[in-house]
Amino acid sequence: MVVVGAGISGIGAACHLRSRHPVRSFVVLEALETFGGTWWTHRYPGVRSDSDLFTFGYAFKPWKGAPLASGEAIRAYLGEVIAEHGLDVAIRYRHRVQSASWSSADRHWRLVVRREDSGEQLVVIASFLWMCQGYYRHAEGYTPEWEGMARFEGRIVHPQHWPEDLDYTAKRVVVIGSGATAATLVPALAADAAHVTMVQRSPTFYYARPNVNELADTLRALDIPDEWTHEIVRRKSIADLEAAARLSFERPEELRELLVEGIRPLLPDGFDVERHFSPSYRPWQQRIAVVPDGDLFAAIREGRASIVTDNIDHFSERGIRLASGEELEADIVVTATGFDLALLGDVDLVVDGEKVDVARCVTYRGIMFTGVPNLAYVFGYFRFSWTLRADLVSDFVCRLLRSMEERGATMVVPALRDADAGMPLGPWVDPEDFNPGYLARSLHRMPRQGDRAPWRLEQDYLVERDLLAAADFADGCLRFD
Ligand SMILES: Cc1cc2nc3c(=O)[nH]c(=O)nc-3n(C[C@H](O)[C@H](O)[C@H](O)COP(=O)(O)OP(=O)(O)OC[C@H]3O[C@@H](n4cnc5c(N)ncnc54)[C@H](O)[C@@H]3O)c2cc1C
Repeated sequence: MVVVGAGISGIGAACHLRSRHPVRSFVVLEALETFGGTWWTHRYPGVRSDSDLFTFGYAFKPWKGAPLASGEAIRAYLGEVIAEHGLDVAIRYRHRVQSASWSSADRHWRLVVRREDSGEQLVVIASFLWMCQGYYRHAEGYTPEWEGMARFEGRIVHPQHWPEDLDYTAKRVVVIGSGATAATLVPALAADAAHVTMVQRSPTFYYARPNVNELADTLRALDIPDEWTHEIVRRKSIADLEAAARLSFERPEELRELLVEGIRPLLPDGFDVERHFSPSYRPWQQRIAVVPDGDLFAAIREGRASIVTDNIDHFSERGIRLASGEELEADIVVTATGFDLALLGDVDLVVDGEKVDVARCVTYRGIMFTGVPNLAYVFGYFRFSWTLRADLVSDFVCRLLRSMEERGATMVVPALRDADAGMPLGPWVDPEDFNPGYLARSLHRMPRQGDRAPWRLEQDYLVERDLLAAADFADGCLRFD
């Protein structure tokens, strides 16, 4: 088997394979020089999770630190997982999968893999492909084109490629963006910069919380075993996230008020909270960015950072000219403007000689695609920690592999039943439900979903936990051979 990617999802998949299918041989192919995925690519100042690690960590490996963790702490945790499960020998770094071609006659995938160090091309044969490639292109971030960027005399930096030598001490920095990355960078840079200005086209919802978990601290003080503490706090965290998600659907205005009023006292008197921190969309239609210990607001309060809500008209030699006519002078501009969605890690898929256009496929449980045999795909939650879904998918794939063994099948492929013919199809994610920019830009390239199980991608952990656990492999939606 081949697992593509050694980020949180790929490492989790490999652990499940090791423990649930100990005799199955597999290899993890990773394009980067080391493990961690997101947490290796993003090494900008202050980089951290905005999910708690009781749910962003794995179910099987207790988290022992503060709930929100730095990128470095997450990598250290993943490093321990690799060592504890003896995965070092199973991961090949600098191996980028370029294409995958399935042969029903041979019952295998033929992968063309490029060694990123030597440029050499290898062919790898796999009985099953487990795609843990994440959702965006690591090699390149998304930066809109603004007029005059080339004549700007300062430095333009994307957070995905943070230069190690970037000295921002006493510099004027402009951060373009309003999401979690911008909210993380602004206070981190403001500690040493002359001043940091965050420029956003439109506001984001923020939730300021202390980076402590009282329940975890109490259990730890009582010497409760780490495994128990992890599980108990994990359940509590899931229940809290469920409650917030429910509130966003049932009483969105109440949640809006809770979020906006929650940050008002953290800002200077008379601060225009409505303009800068009250988005036009419903809470949770885009990710709510968590601000540990309210550090973004402290930087604004202390005058080290400021926020501007306006459109960028153009870049000048000295900085940025806004639509309002205001000029922001800058030595460094950070474009925290998001990602380029990369479906399936830019791997070209071919099935029996025909190129697969996944936008024409229907998803089976958000894990497999109609007409594509022996392939599982990991795409995590938006509102819950990504890893919660990666763990569920791992469990599902391990059961599917067992079911194939029991049936003596070497091939499994989802196919619509007669009863599903003519089923209304919609986008991978309903934009009414969730619509961040990177998804909106690429939704037309994603697989479609139907109006009923198992042809849907659920975005609710508790619903999906039960649905996946009860999945009936003999319901006619999966063809085994
Ligand atoms: C700064 C930042 C903070 C985030 N914080 C959170 C958070 O707090 N909570 C949350 O739930 N989510 C968060 N996310 C989303 C985050 O990406 C995921 O939660 C999680 O880290 C994804 O893990 P992954 O392993 O699925 O994908 P990734 O971390 O993207 O890793 C995928 C790996 O696959 C490799 N790969 C891709 N294509 C190929 C190929 N063709 N061949 C070989 N290798 C390939 C990549 O090089 C990469 O190493 C955050 C994202 C960012 C950018």
